[in-house]
Amino acid sequence: MIPCANPKAQYLAHKQEIDDAINRVLESGWYILGDEVGAFEEEFAVYLGVNHAVGVGNGTEALHLALVACGIGYGDEVATVSHTAVATVAAIELAGAKPVFVDIDPVTYNMDPDLLEKGITSKTKAIVPVHLYGRPAPMEEILAIAKEYGLCVVEDCAQAHGATYRGERVGSFGDMACFSFYPTKNLGALGDGGAVVTSDPGLAEKARLLREYGWAERFVSHIQGWNTRLDEIQAAILRVKLKHLDFDNARRFKLANLYSEGLFETDIALPILKKGAVHVYHLYVIRVKERSSLQAYLRSKDIGATVHYPVPVHLQPAYEKVAVSLPNTEIAAREVLSLPMYPQLTKRQVQFVIDSIKEHCL
Ligand SMILES: *Cc1c(COP(=O)(O)O)cnc(C)c1O
Repeated sequence: MIPCANPKAQYLAHKQEIDDAINRVLESGWYILGDEVGAFEEEFAVYLGVNHAVGVGNGTEALHLALVACGIGYGDEVATVSHTAVATVAAIELAGAKPVFVDIDPVTYNMDPDLLEKGITSKTKAIVPVHLYGRPAPMEEILAIAKEYGLCVVEDCAQAHGATYRGERVGSFGDMACFSFYPTKNLGALGDGGAVVTSDPGLAEKARLLREYGWAERFVSHIQGWNTRLDEIQAAILRVKLKHLDFDNARRFKLANLYSEGLFETDIALPILKKGAVHVYHLYVIRVKERSSLQAYLRSKDIGATVHYPVPVHLQPAYEKVAVSLPNTEIAAREVLSLPMYPQLTKRQVQFVIDSIKEHCL
């Protein structure tokens, strides 16, 4: 079986280092918000080129907390995309705000900045662009619109650890940015984890208070917070994995090129690279009209091709009340297919996937 993602292979690739890190924490006697979290926050901030990182419980909570820190709440609207993990939208609703969906560019699958302005009303307070599949969203255009309308920008970087836009890491563009360390992500823990990053000291301080009951010191709540903490074991694991992130992303890039070269002669739509944006291929996503038959054929050959995402958020049962038409999002949801992609995938396995697709399509 060639799975779509393989967190176990990523653990085994650095097993000794990770086991040592876990044991160090077990022996330390300190398991929540300690030295490992502090060190990881510093190392991750340096890696991204931002001033502050705040470890939290998961990526959904990172987004929820960032929006609250930015002052977003009940009665506010937040512009985002429907072609994303439902987590992006769930976080906006957790903050009490209303999501407003902007259609995507059908080539990049990211928010189409030309359609963004149309979604902005007097109630709009923030924009949440998603760097989907590992491809940076068009931040220059998005930031220009945010500036014009005085909106806060919270980047959803859950699929794009290490991706760069005009030479800078994603996560360094918005007022705040959010990461998930779910095990399959480019930087994955062995459990849940997330982070909020910012270069604004006031927002960083607010994020630190919010993640633990508003405490500046123990048992004194300065503001109303809740509990969303990164634990020491996950932070220790993430410190090991962060050291290998650039290497792992380079490997993903190489495998993506193999796919693109191998599938070039088919009429399948492949990821097209854009100047100035470095894609980190959290997912390698192709587009085919006859998706279900290709997916079934690949499954019959033990290739775990998966759909991200089969039902756009605005068409999910929980969101049916949001009446909006997003044609590019709806077509993408019918045609996208993610091929196996993780750093430990071998070139032979990639070739087998390519050959299998060609058998079916040519
Ligand atoms: C994974 C993901 C999240 C949520 O992260 P969790 O850690 O699972 O809560 C948010 N947004 C996007 C785009 C994601 O892929």
